[in-house]
Amino acid sequence: MLAVFTDLDNCLLDHDTYDYRPALPALSRLKLLGAPIVCTTSKTRAEVEHWLHAIGLSHPSIVENGGGIVLEDGRVEALGRPRAAITPALREAASEALARIRCFADMPAEEIAARCNMGTDRARLAAAREFSEPFVLETPEREDALRASLEQRGLRLTRGGRFHHALAHEGKHGAVRRLVEHWRRAPGALVTIGIGDAPNDEGFLALVDHPIRLAHGDSGPAAWNRRVQAVLDALNL
Ligand SMILES: [Mg+2]
Repeated sequence: MLAVFTDLDNCLLDHDTYDYRPALPALSRLKLLGAPIVCTTSKTRAEVEHWLHAIGLSHPSIVENGGGIVLEDGRVEALGRPRAAITPALREAASEALARIRCFADMPAEEIAARCNMGTDRARLAAAREFSEPFVLETPEREDALRASLEQRGLRLTRGGRFHHALAHEGKHGAVRRLVEHWRRAPGALVTIGIGDAPNDEGFLALVDHPIRLAHGDSGPAAWNRRVQAVLDALNL
């Protein structure tokens, strides 16, 4: 069995236009192989539903940097704390660390839309966080202090392509590990491919058999298509 774990932004989706079509040849090859394609993203469940429908993929999916696994049947396995507990702790930590932040919770949908280069309908899906709080760190020199202050509250700081994120779970890799362990219990060998581009992808890329790191300048769906097909060619699949 082959399983693919992929980040979305700047990987399967273009960073600016969110186009995925250049990846279609590799996607159809993976579908013919029956390989699950697991979106492994900082996006919310609502956003992932939108993209699964648009691209023609299905669950399981890893949402909000591993805060939740949406299973094949749509049930959600939560791995962290609810957002309602995270946002106030993040505000406390920022104030203690003398870090100035702007939380997603404080941004109207129009601001999220402008920052993410998307329409307000999609921004509302992005705002529907359940397991984490994205934020802009307006004082980057306070990042280490903020990280320490979050850790004292049992929270983690991670960084995606656009935002910092406060989490109460391990990160994407914790969720990837759970799915891999689940599939390894089934008979037959499991081969895993992972595709990512940002620091919050490094943890899960270290867990897969064939990590694909998309570098700045050679990222997005065309690179995704080429690099995934190269791995499939090398595996004679
Ligand atoms: Mg990314």
